[in-house]
Amino acid sequence: MAKPCDSWNTCLNTPLQEEDSEIYALIEQEKYRQFSGLELIASENFTSQAVMEANGSALTNKYSEGLPGARYYGGNEYIDQVENLCRKRALTAFHLDAEKWGVNVQPYSGSTANFAALTALIQPQDRLMGLDLPSGGHLTHGYQTAKKKISSSSIYFQSMPYQVDQTTGYIDYDRLEENAALFRPKLLICGASAYPREWDYARLRKVADQHGAYLMADIAHISGLVASKEAANPFEFCDVVTTTTHKTLRGPRAGLIFFRRDKGDDLEGRVNQAVFPSCQGGPHNNTIAAIAVALKQVATPEFKQYAIQVRANAKTLAKTLRNYGYKMATDGTENHLILWDLKPQKLTGSKVERICEIVDITINKNSIAGDKSAVTPGGVRLGTAALTSRSFKEEDMVKVGEFLHRTVQIASDVQTKCGSKMMKDFVAALEGNQDIAQLKKEVQEFARSFPMPGFDPKTIQVNGH
Ligand code: PLP
Repeated sequence: MAKPCDSWNTCLNTPLQEEDSEIYALIEQEKYRQFSGLELIASENFTSQAVMEANGSALTNKYSEGLPGARYYGGNEYIDQVENLCRKRALTAFHLDAEKWGVNVQPYSGSTANFAALTALIQPQDRLMGLDLPSGGHLTHGYQTAKKKISSSSIYFQSMPYQVDQTTGYIDYDRLEENAALFRPKLLICGASAYPREWDYARLRKVADQHGAYLMADIAHISGLVASKEAANPFEFCDVVTTTTHKTLRGPRAGLIFFRRDKGDDLEGRVNQAVFPSCQGGPHNNTIAAIAVALKQVATPEFKQYAIQVRANAKTLAKTLRNYGYKMATDGTENHLILWDLKPQKLTGSKVERICEIVDITINKNSIAGDKSAVTPGGVRLGTAALTSRSFKEEDMVKVGEFLHRTVQIASDVQTKCGSKMMKDFVAALEGNQDIAQLKKEVQEFARSFPMPGFDPKTIQVNGH
């Protein structure tokens, strides 16, 4: 129990552990979970201690609506320097010439960055084309179903998605081009949340130019690879590039919008205006400082090595699973993620995700090209950015592949024994399974043998450990 505060300012200077023992305990438990498990969610990473320090700093106290040198509040002498440093480092990390490119570092997240970019580039009800969500695209790229407009990007704009080829899993550029000729978009969006292959930016530029459309890349997933030149360069072809900062880039949770300064239609003014005041209020200065720290790390040779290892680990994991006889969408990967098709095993992604969760392997179910139902996706998505931050190498990914193989064997076994394909029967049949208990023990032992970025696992305070 926390001690009651004897005066208001004692309370304001009490460490979290004393001030709010409930939240403190939950944070410690989450740290222990992160340390004890295998984190394979493709959109996650483990950021550094320095990034977390900046993110948890007194900069959270400051209002600074506007841009450096032009704020609506006083007292921004140091905040201006932080934001300018962050902008400079963003351009450096992505090898951009400040004459040609600028960046807004204020978006609170990838979703708000994307909505601000759409607000800057097109008018309400204008037409946009992005990769369909069941094909691996993100919600914010115009997602809608046959019955409902889901994302604000389809509510406020007219959306016609393009898709991957249902057999190969690769983007069907020919069909995209044909549909663009009919739909005549004002904006073409590339980038994805679940696409294991490289993008043909040159071809997309050609399509955009045929219709006088802007080309925007959302590199949220691959930005760490782009910055370290381990992925093709979208800046060569695009007008605007958005990203999150917390996936392969390994920073705090936020977004960035890069815009061309040399296009002649004031993308700079339009993007800056769209972020504030159109879509946001005061920037989160603590987060901007943390992005700056992460970008300093991104520009190092060590980060280049990290990005090389992320890709090598993904390749090894895909190969290991293929050696067990499994099917990967597009037959493999060129980036940090893998789409594992479980339909040949007659399993759904939800079932394998559930067993993985019990044994402390964190993954997510994902639709795979050719799925009949979006509600019960036929596969799972795996990513190697987080485990690579914990120093996993190729031989460790072989072990991870073996663990994953065992989860699928257990899932098949349980499904056969329970004689039902219903998720609720499957979950009930997992109770007391000894193979699961054994696998969980091995996974935890293995995971705990690796270092943990950002905090020292020895200091974690969890009951019983
Ligand atoms: N864009 C892409 C391609 C993403 O994968 C994601 C999130 O996973 C986002 C945007 C949204 O980012 P956020 O969750 O920070 O809003």
